This record gives sequence, structure tokens and C-alpha cells, in this order.
Amino acid sequence: MGVLFRNCAAIVTSARGEVLRDADLLTEGPAIAGIGPGLPAPPGTEVIDATGWFLYPGLVNTHHHFFQTFVRNRVELDWTRMAVIEWLDTIYPIFARLTEECFYHSSLTAMAELIKHGCTTAFDHQYNFPRHAGKRIVDRQFQAAELLGMRFHAGRGGNTLPKSEGSTIPDEMLETTDEFIADCERAIDTFHQPGPFAMRQVAVAPCQPVNCYLDTFTESVRLARDKGVILHTHVGEGEAEVIRARHGVRTVEYLERVGFCGPDTFYAHCWELTRNELARMAATGTGVSHCPEPVYLVGAEVTDIPAMAALGVPLSLGCDGSASNDNSNLMHCIHSGYMLQCLVAGTRADPVPLPAAFLEMATEGGARALGRSDIGRLAPGMAADLFAIDTRRMDYVGTRHDPQSLPAKLGVGSPTDLTMINGRIVWAKGEFPGLDEAQMFAEAEAVLTATLS
Ligand SMILES: [Zn+2]
Repeated sequence: MGVLFRNCAAIVTSARGEVLRDADLLTEGPAIAGIGPGLPAPPGTEVIDATGWFLYPGLVNTHHHFFQTFVRNRVELDWTRMAVIEWLDTIYPIFARLTEECFYHSSLTAMAELIKHGCTTAFDHQYNFPRHAGKRIVDRQFQAAELLGMRFHAGRGGNTLPKSEGSTIPDEMLETTDEFIADCERAIDTFHQPGPFAMRQVAVAPCQPVNCYLDTFTESVRLARDKGVILHTHVGEGEAEVIRARHGVRTVEYLERVGFCGPDTFYAHCWELTRNELARMAATGTGVSHCPEPVYLVGAEVTDIPAMAALGVPLSLGCDGSASNDNSNLMHCIHSGYMLQCLVAGTRADPVPLPAAFLEMATEGGARALGRSDIGRLAPGMAADLFAIDTRRMDYVGTRHDPQSLPAKLGVGSPTDLTMINGRIVWAKGEFPGLDEAQMFAEAEAVLTATLS
């Protein structure tokens, strides 16, 4: 059975494509069946009066660490009051105490907030595998995604280099390269759906070059190319000179040498990259997940998004984990990402991308990073992933002439009025249909308190 959104005030088919006014959108199963004025409703179709609504393609979050939602709003972990090494030494022992149940409920917590704010596809970089928590963490994340109806890409992360050899990772969170690769392969074989409308995909995502042996990266490349899945890691967060001291080259070249680059690869952050390194990434089609909010919080160098855009580096958007951004709200990041670039515009060689480009990063850009052509736009045959906001509110007076710039310029502060994923309404009228949010909240709090208090 499908859904007909009747008489939408605007349908944003893509961030920089056509905007249809006073039009309908019809879904059938997981896909969009039609967009246009006066569409007939086939028998059995649920008809929703969308008068006053703006419909947008669902957001695609390309970097997060769901487990960190269990370590947020802690004033004792304030980046501004301690050195990075002190912060790491404080927070990692907390990460290492998390149990399998914590990973399940923290994933529910993060995904629920993402969905409320229009996100329909979430990539999670799960690199924390404390030995006592077992190897079924990614499995439980897929279970959480299924409960909420979220399209979920699991980035199976991991760390292999011990502290004694220069990493920042406690021993109880380490794996060997063989353990890591074997579990990546198991996760791919068990969960990865390669076709259109896939709800479950897996990426090979070693945490970061400074915390892994070289063979972790070479083996990741071999496995990902063998299985046809995406590669992901953290790059350019201040580690380039450490990598140079160890290996003689900075991070981008280090990764290029092992083939950890290309259109099937994207890196998180990339704050400290040189223009030459960005040009190389553009040439190989290697993407970036830009996470603007950690930039505010950790006071790091402001990512040169104008240069990346000018050079043609594929850009997507991520909210990052709660160690460096305490919310899971990608909608908020569209606004904060745009504002952040405006703050430093006068210091840049290239112009700040237009506001709609930030919506594009969070939709089509995210789809491209994850290797998908079935999400990120609204068109017949595409997946029915979308969100709706009812603009008949004082919040939106004077804004309705430009729906594509609205999320970046204005910021959409409230939860959406509706979020649909794969043709299913997963959030509407302030509720998750079929789920009891109060119960989910109580269970998550109970697990968190039992583990960390
Ligand atoms: Zn991260």
C-alpha cells in the first residue's frame, strides 16, 4: 500500500534541482511512484493532506559514533578545560565499560533523534569493541535500526595499535588485524544488501591511521574491494605530523599508497589537509564527511569547505559522536555548517558555497559517499525517503519563497512533522508509530545508569 501526499506547498526534488509548488507525491511500496499535480490515489492508498507542507529528500548522515550518546552532557569532559591527551585518558576508560546492551540502547537513542530531525539513512562508525562486550555489537545496531525503521549503514571500525606503540587506545578495546578483518567479513556476509532499497549495508572502517597498524589498512582495502563495499576512516584531525614521523609521509599520502582512497572511500573531518592534498582527493574521487559541530566544540581549525567545493572533493555531512557534538541532529548541522563557513569567509581563497549546497551535502552528497543512487533525491523510482515540515507556523513567515536555502539559512529547529523511510512512516505527529517512546527512554536510561553510575 502506498501513501499520497496531497497538495504539498512545495516538493524539493533535490537540494539544487526543481521545486514543485502545489503538487502531490505518491509512494508505492518502498519507492516513489509519482510526483506532480493532481495525482490519482490508487485503491488502498493512504491520503495525507499536505497543505502547507514542504517535502524534502530524507537526510543522510555520514559520520557518527552512536555509542557516545551514553557519554554526553558531562561537564567534566569539557574540551576547553583539559589537554587532548587528558581528555582521551578520561573518556576512553568510560567507553571501555560499555556493554552490548549499552551499544543497543545508545544506537536506538541516536537513531531516534536523527529520525525526528529528518534523517532517513544513518552511517555509524562503530570502532569501540571492548573485549567483555563481545562481537555482536554491529548485529545489535542492525536490530535497533530495524525497530525504528531506519536505513542503516554500519561502519565496522576497530583499533589494532597498542598504547605502548603510540596509540591512545586502552588495551581492552584493541583487536588484532585478523580479528577485525574476520568480523568485518562476517558482518558483510550476514547483513550487507547490495541492491536498490537496501536497508542494511556494511562498510570497512578502521578507526584511524594513528591507532592502527599498516596491515589493518592494507587488509581493509583488500576485503572491501573483494566484497564491493565502502571504506571509511578518520583523517586530518591533527595526526598528519604523527603519521609523517612514523611513516615519512602525511596521512593522505599514507592512505593513497595502500589504495585506501577512491570513489568507494570517504574520510571524516579533514580539518588539516593542504590544498594539494584536497586536489589529490578530488582527483581520486575520495569523499569527505564534514562534521561542523565538533569544529566549534574542540576549537579545531575550521575545515576549508570552500576549497573542497571549488576543487570538486565529494562532500557529505555528519553530526559526529557525542564526544565532540552532544546532539544527533543532522538538520542542525546543515545550519551550523553554513554559519561556520560564513564566520571565516573573509579568510578563504574560495567563496562559501550557497546555502542550498549544505542541504545538498546532507542529501545527494551523503548518498554518493555511501555509494547509493537510490536515495538523496525525490523522483519516481527513487526510494521513498523524505521528511515534511508544516510551514504554516510563525517560524516560517517570510521564508517560504526559497525552500532549498531554508534549512541552512534559517535552521529547522523543531522535529519534522513526518519522516518516511523506504515508504514507511516512521515518525509522525510527534510519535514513532507502533513504538512507545516513554518505554524506550526508560529502558535506555536504566541500562546507562546500571553500567556507568
Ligand atoms: Zn568520528
